[in-house]
Amino acid sequence: MNRELFKYIPSVDVLLKLVESEKELTTVPRTLVKDKIDYLLNSLRQDIKNGKIKNKDQVKKVVERDFVVNFLKKATRPKYRRVINGTGVVVHTNLGRSLLSQEAVEAVVKGCSYYTNLEFSLETGKRGSRYSLVEDLLLELTGAEAGLVVNNNAGAVLIVLNTLAKDKEVIVSRGELIEIGGSFRIPDVMKSSGAILREVGATNRTHLYDYEQAISPNTAALFKAHTSNYKIIGFHKEVPLQDLVMLGNRYNLPIIEDLGSGNFYDFPDWLNIEEPTVADRIKKGVSVVSFSGDKLLGGPQAGIIVGKKQYIDKIKKNPLNRALRIDKMTLAALEATLRLYKDKAQAKNKIPTLKLILTPPSTLKAKAKRLVKRLKQDLREIYSFTIKKGNSRVGGGASPEKDLPTYLVLIKPNFMDNLDRFRSILLDTDPPMVGIIEDDYFMLDVRTLLKDDLSVIPEVLRQAYNYVKEN
Ligand SMILES: *Cc1c(COP(=O)(O)O)cnc(C)c1O
Repeated sequence: MNRELFKYIPSVDVLLKLVESEKELTTVPRTLVKDKIDYLLNSLRQDIKNGKIKNKDQVKKVVERDFVVNFLKKATRPKYRRVINGTGVVVHTNLGRSLLSQEAVEAVVKGCSYYTNLEFSLETGKRGSRYSLVEDLLLELTGAEAGLVVNNNAGAVLIVLNTLAKDKEVIVSRGELIEIGGSFRIPDVMKSSGAILREVGATNRTHLYDYEQAISPNTAALFKAHTSNYKIIGFHKEVPLQDLVMLGNRYNLPIIEDLGSGNFYDFPDWLNIEEPTVADRIKKGVSVVSFSGDKLLGGPQAGIIVGKKQYIDKIKKNPLNRALRIDKMTLAALEATLRLYKDKAQAKNKIPTLKLILTPPSTLKAKAKRLVKRLKQDLREIYSFTIKKGNSRVGGGASPEKDLPTYLVLIKPNFMDNLDRFRSILLDTDPPMVGIIEDDYFMLDVRTLLKDDLSVIPEVLRQAYNYVKEN
């Protein structure tokens, strides 16, 4: 260790002063900046002690203004960050699922900046209930008799089963005992709800008589799960919904359906999206339908439950409803999103999830060309860029194997070969960028690149280059 070097380490206050004028850091709480400077100086001391830093120049490099500012910008930024989604998966659960429409964002800002009638009836001046504010819209859009909204669809399934089937049997086809990402499994949720799972049929085939034979005095409901993230092909049979509804009606049992991705939009045939609409399920006589607010619907995270009044009224009274209640931001965003669905043309232009799914290949091609042109202008020395056809996916468990035709921008850095390393460097840029690695290329699916993304991608790629050059 070179003890001499310690004298080149400035005090915290000196460094604080040094970075004082940096605009980006002025909004960061002072103590946070100070803590991080402490951390920086401590690591420097440590590195001197263990001989990693051996001379004066190395010390000076760490305490010079640019280095400190860059370190602080990185160390003090919020952990919840914007990310560029180049995966082409529109409803990407890990990347935040649906983007809210401008209308929804504005409703959230307004609904949180002022006091509101969240649980206050403006008709009676007395206490009201929060979900009643969106119930009418839900009924108009789905044709259901009643509805309520809870925290998310997993919560919705839980409260529905707990209300209608606690300590009783619920009949489910073995082909629908699904697991979706993030550890949501139908059998596990059923157990938590207190309902008893009664499996019928085989994985690939279930018949109406399987359901009927399983009905006993202890049966509370027939349950259907939309097998949203997988599909059985080949020798396969599932009972048509209408038959199941008839069976339920005959035995006076509710049909509960976990629809997963709640769709309110009739997608054009060329897209090949086979997601039933909620209205269709209600029309076919399903007693209680639940679905997510932030999948195909394109709204905030929420679990929406609609169906027959006799059942929904019971669910509303379940104490779990209090535990699973939605917050005011969700409510504001959900109402704004649902309002857009009152006009289908408006919905498809204003709800980002629909807009991204509905973007035609010709538009995507033009977008890819524009992006490549811009990238070549700035970066042709250090990268090569090409365009190729590809497929994107809806995501969120909807339409599992129906690919949406798209265009990919292939990016090859000519300053490094290791694409896995390139990918991880891009996770540390500002903003981070997530893409696809395939056939020795790093690729961006332009479908999920937003307007604001297109202008920062050159800068992000430049950052990656600078990083490799410096390390
Ligand atoms: C996504 C999904 C869920 C869970 O919904 P969350 O809103 O994420 O809680 C439940 N069931 C099915 C079939 C799903 O696709």
